[in-house]
Amino acid sequence: MADPTAAKGPALKLKPGREKSLRHRHPWVFSGAIDAVQGEPSVGDTVSVIAADGTLLARAAYSPASQIRARVWSFEPRVAIDADFFRQRIERAVAARAALQDDRNTGCRLVHAEADGLPGVVADRYGEVVVVQLSSAGAERWRDAIVDALAAVPGVTCIFERSDADVRKLEGLEPRVGVLRGDLPAPVVFREDDLVYHADVVAGQKTGFYLDQRDNRRAVRALAAGREMLNVFCYTGGFTLAALAGGAARVTSLDSSGPALAGARANLAANPALDGERAEWLEADAFATLRKFRDAARSFDLIVLDPPKFAPTVAHAERAARAYKDVNLWALKLLRPGGLLATFSCSHGVDAELFRKIVAGAALDAGADAAIVGRFGPSADHPVALAFPEGDYLKGLLIRKAM
Ligand code: SAH
Repeated sequence: MADPTAAKGPALKLKPGREKSLRHRHPWVFSGAIDAVQGEPSVGDTVSVIAADGTLLARAAYSPASQIRARVWSFEPRVAIDADFFRQRIERAVAARAALQDDRNTGCRLVHAEADGLPGVVADRYGEVVVVQLSSAGAERWRDAIVDALAAVPGVTCIFERSDADVRKLEGLEPRVGVLRGDLPAPVVFREDDLVYHADVVAGQKTGFYLDQRDNRRAVRALAAGREMLNVFCYTGGFTLAALAGGAARVTSLDSSGPALAGARANLAANPALDGERAEWLEADAFATLRKFRDAARSFDLIVLDPPKFAPTVAHAERAARAYKDVNLWALKLLRPGGLLATFSCSHGVDAELFRKIVAGAALDAGADAAIVGRFGPSADHPVALAFPEGDYLKGLLIRKAM
């Protein structure tokens, strides 16, 4: 007699004991947990995930090329994974962010992958443009349904694809970049409070802007009045503009990327109410420049350090720790007594406690007496699922150097 609980269609049968993480609602199935592949699923196909005792656990997308062999769409093992499923998930994600958007705030992450039950799918809204990033085989398989649902969001006139992140390679997928729906305005403009920003959605970093730092830009703005600030790894000047709006006396911003600095100048020009005379831009390497500033006896009241992902995975953590320590050490030396350092890490491989230790080591070596006076995380449109700590990538500390 047929078992009524048996899965229909292709399935992944797990080794004994390997169902535990799924029971805790962690959405990844690693290759080593799989005992057998039943049926012949193709790349991106939906599979059932079955415990060794036959219990149906989840519906997931099959990624045969990746160590993360399947990503869970639903822990409801009988739910249909179809276009309607993606429409509902995207509507739910968009609705959850309604309070974060208004006429003054038109930049928002609409879909944040695992945290919205959509592994491999990121969508950022900049005004009327949505930039979508599909980075897993399952997301690629359902691209039309996902793009249709995003195009149906009220006020959206253009969908642009930026599926060029390195993780696509691990899934055996080619990069894809271009307009999927509508016409791309130039420039792509969005608002954050009383400021206007441009997002370089075609060639900029991430989807064009660091929306995850929104709350932290506001925090820096509130601290900036009358201070001389140094913004290291400034990209297109998000923290710089926020600090100028907050009344900073002077902001020196540095980045090694010429195009990023060109974008920063364009952002400043888009905000004529800000005093551009107070901004100094430097195209230079941060590690060398901080040392040069020290030699030149330059000092600052407020420093923002927001480096790139030095440790994309835990395997890179050690080398990354040295790089984080180095920039924090030099920043602490450049800080005046009583000055503030807002220091960030967006590395998945460096957790909050390791980051605190790195900064503590930097303060020790810099001979700085310093204390944590605040902590930073991502804005609310970048939620962290409780069952998925890997999503907790952005952490920051506000450090005050003793008088
Ligand atoms: N703080 C920015 C985001 C920083 S992203 C914001 O809020 O928008 C990291 C930046 O570091 C990138 O713009 C990159 O060009 C720059 N970068 C990477 N390596 C660098 C180096 N060695 N020196 C200076 N800038 C560097």
